[in-house]
Amino acid sequence: ADSNENQYDVIVVGSGAGAMTSAIFAADQGNSVLIVEKSDKYGGTSAISGGGIWIPNNDEFKAIGGNDSYESALTYIKAASQGSVAESRIRAYLDNAPKMLRELHANTRVKFAVADKYPDYYPTLEGALHGGRTMDPELFNTTGLGEEIEHQQPASGNTLLMGKMAWTARHAHKAVAKERGWMLMIIGLILRYKLDFRQRRKTKRDRRAGLGASLVAALRHSLIDRNIPLWRNTEFTDFVITNDRVSGIKVTKEGKSITLNARYGVVMGSGGFEQNQSLREKYLPEPSQQMWSATPKGGNTGAALEAGQKLGAATDLLDWCWWTPTIKVPKEPSSRGLFAERSFPGAIVVDGEGKRFFNEAAPYLEFGDAMYKNHQKMGNSVPAWVVFDARFRHEYAMGPLMPGKIMPDSRASKSWLETVYWKADTLEELAQKIKVDASGLAKTVETMNHYAQTGVDEEFDRGGNVFDRYYGDPNVKPNPCLAPITKGPYYAMMINPGDIGTKGGLLTNDSAQVVKPSGEPIEGLYAIGNASSSVMGTSYPGAGSTIGPAMTFGYVAANHITANR
Ligand code: FAD
Repeated sequence: ADSNENQYDVIVVGSGAGAMTSAIFAADQGNSVLIVEKSDKYGGTSAISGGGIWIPNNDEFKAIGGNDSYESALTYIKAASQGSVAESRIRAYLDNAPKMLRELHANTRVKFAVADKYPDYYPTLEGALHGGRTMDPELFNTTGLGEEIEHQQPASGNTLLMGKMAWTARHAHKAVAKERGWMLMIIGLILRYKLDFRQRRKTKRDRRAGLGASLVAALRHSLIDRNIPLWRNTEFTDFVITNDRVSGIKVTKEGKSITLNARYGVVMGSGGFEQNQSLREKYLPEPSQQMWSATPKGGNTGAALEAGQKLGAATDLLDWCWWTPTIKVPKEPSSRGLFAERSFPGAIVVDGEGKRFFNEAAPYLEFGDAMYKNHQKMGNSVPAWVVFDARFRHEYAMGPLMPGKIMPDSRASKSWLETVYWKADTLEELAQKIKVDASGLAKTVETMNHYAQTGVDEEFDRGGNVFDRYYGDPNVKPNPCLAPITKGPYYAMMINPGDIGTKGGLLTNDSAQVVKPSGEPIEGLYAIGNASSSVMGTSYPGAGSTIGPAMTFGYVAANHITANR
């Protein structure tokens, strides 16, 4: 009986968006499927993310008259990734991503809308679009999930409007860009939340989920529709090999080890290794701290990587993360990513000499990489400091500090002063407090104030392209990403080269099969998401470049398993 109980066609390890997508397609193709998740919560980093997926040439953009093509996307990814990944894998991505989304929309509860104003991250490269490739999850009503929603990895407050209300990336951008009707939109979102009396009597949690929480809840509900079992508290520890193929896995469930057999395939969707300090030290640039990561604490510790290496799997990109500058807030288990705030006008990032070293409004991967590169050269940009003045403080958010007009210093947590933010009446005093060279900082601010006036950042061209300006303030002229720093008190916050996951992992082929250094696949073994080495190589082409491929190769793995069973 035991062998029957523990026998499945397909076993999926991990419960992020890619893993769940793979399980759904495998089940719909007639396979018996089991998902095992190590944490007591399902959803992984995917559940706390923005949930955006970058799908070139998708149907939704075309439906609103958008213009995209396979060829332009290929040109663009190749230019961005600069040979760091095999072209055939990029092609496999472009072939399958729109199909995956089409089938997901047709058969599951998942629903995305096109973010037609969200530009690709390198808008000056050939083939880039100024919007239309990033897909943003619609809000999802979680009522039908019942108690199960309590077991979902909870999104942190900063993905919610005022820490409570669900919204989409399109809502957030409309508010930041102060587009026509943004105030009404916010009032609408607040009213819808407040007037939901039945839910308000029970809990503060919004009935609706947005961003990554929406995507994961919709996938979870779609798994329930299909009776696909998802075992939480079940940790993959190793592979089982029979006749040179992966025929199952070993797990620890409630303290007991069990062997689970997979007739046709094992799909590793167990994330990267960013939560493993010793693997960070082994592979990532120095210095590197687990606590700088924005992913759920203790989750992704490199289980797929280590077990795969024992089988002789090839690996790639192990020295790369999806870098994101982050702020550590005391008592919060993970760091907070700074995605948009660096573009707001009037905040600059400086190193220990008080000098800027990069375009603050650049995409987060490039910014994190630049922190390391500057640190290797100068030894003084880990940590770096984001500096702004009282006017900025009043107007804009920075990390956990909401705009002063909503959250003045008197209402910010007392424990944040001199742990999260530093404050002084003059720039000089501020520099002393944070041990940054005062004359260097003064000079940088003076130069920047000049750029704010002319609208041209002569050093790093901040605000010089449509991506920078996506999170700029359109009311600020002549450059929406530049404003003078003149009004005390002055503020500084410490930022680290954090991440939203590692980028390297098991090398896979066009069918998501894990391969050996010879290129020969390890039969029965598939890897997706951050358990695999990214199809984007060293680049981050657009918002959704991690979950888009995770879901797409989850789909590809299911198709390959089914076709070869
Ligand atoms: P995860 O979603 O982390 O799932 C891995 C799961 O495997 C986890 O639940 C983990 O507990 C489990 N696991 C680990 N080890 C084991 C084991 N031994 N046995 C069983 N289970 C195990 N990316 C985008 O593409 N678009 C966005 O909009 C976006 N926004 C982001 C916003 C934030 C704030 C953050 C932090 C990240 C964001 N990202 C975004 C990045 C993205 O969320 C991650 O890169 C992606 O979710 C990784 O997917 P995954 O399936 O590889 O891992």
